[in-house]
Amino acid sequence: MTIPHYLQNFEHFTPKTVQPFFFVFLRGETNLSTKGETMKVFVTGGAGYIGSTVVSELIRAGDSVVVFDNLQQGHRAAVHPKAEFILGDLKDRAVIDAALAAHQPDGIMHFASNTLVGESMDKPFLYLSDNVRNALNLIESAVEHGVRRFILSSTANLFDDPAEMPIKASERIVPGSPYGESKFIIERFLYWMDRIYGFRYAALRYFNACGAAHEDLGEMHDPETHLIPLVLQVALGQREKITMFGDDYPTPDGTCVRDYIHVLDLASAHILALRALDQGSRTYNLGNGQGFSVQEVIETARKVTGHPIPAVVGPRRPGDPATLIASSEKIMEELGWEPRYPDLRQIIEMAWAWHVKHPNGYEE
Ligand code: UDP
Repeated sequence: MTIPHYLQNFEHFTPKTVQPFFFVFLRGETNLSTKGETMKVFVTGGAGYIGSTVVSELIRAGDSVVVFDNLQQGHRAAVHPKAEFILGDLKDRAVIDAALAAHQPDGIMHFASNTLVGESMDKPFLYLSDNVRNALNLIESAVEHGVRRFILSSTANLFDDPAEMPIKASERIVPGSPYGESKFIIERFLYWMDRIYGFRYAALRYFNACGAAHEDLGEMHDPETHLIPLVLQVALGQREKITMFGDDYPTPDGTCVRDYIHVLDLASAHILALRALDQGSRTYNLGNGQGFSVQEVIETARKVTGHPIPAVVGPRRPGDPATLIASSEKIMEELGWEPRYPDLRQIIEMAWAWHVKHPNGYEE
């Protein structure tokens, strides 16, 4: 008999650490590794842009979903009507414990987070403290309640100094900001939870999430800081112009190059990763494999909307690397994932349909 690697670490095998591990067995864990079986999934941040899209796709796949969100950035109206909703904050460990005890999910997807690179350079404690503490509350509660599957929203901001472009999952980690660092710390915690408790996780390092699932489910932040929605707000007449943050980067047109991945492609990656977790923990980069400059995004949005979208050049934004393009080779090979919406024009068309129908967002 081979001894699982997490049982080989005798120094961790104390009564305190072993207890949640046995709890998992006492619960009679079912093997839900095959694609056809459904799961109960606990989704933090399920009222946010990416979270709400993944929730809607999980429900479409037949899974049942419990959303846990404090609605600080999320929108109640974005939550699929078939999902159960808990208004709660990850700062509050007792509320998480009660929710996990009541629902006993098969897996957790953790989206709830502060997510802005620029903001994290101004408010490092918000990221290095709150992001990390909230995730640890959730992970600790998950371990104690026998939940063994966990998907983390991680980030391309782990790769501030890549040796190669496109960036592989094996690239050296150099967080580009306190935001990136907070995700890296959480990834490391997950690594140890796996080694000690057999807690299976996938860290999905997103590049630039964009697009809309359909015309009633899309991106709406307040304040908005992301390029594509800002550009489309100019086209809607809600802003006068777009400012390009720097045009002196070492890129073909001097503006930053990013890999824009459709939110539905992110969703399918989450669902595949969740179902693969029983075969082991994993880390993937997720992008569409192509880079587009800020100027190219604006030009494409002009074509899609028919609006001139005035643009000016401003100073660089702190924390922004020149180019970020993902290699998603690993998830393609291991899980057969493929981006279905890699075309920038189609991404912007789908985002535009949402913005035109909901110019003021969810209007709660
Ligand atoms: N950007 C810009 N003007 C804006 C907002 C963003 O030039 O008003 C640039 C930003 O510097 C980056 C790219 O657009 O190079 C994508 O930024 P976004 O904030 O959408 O995503 P991030 O790359 O920070 O995840």
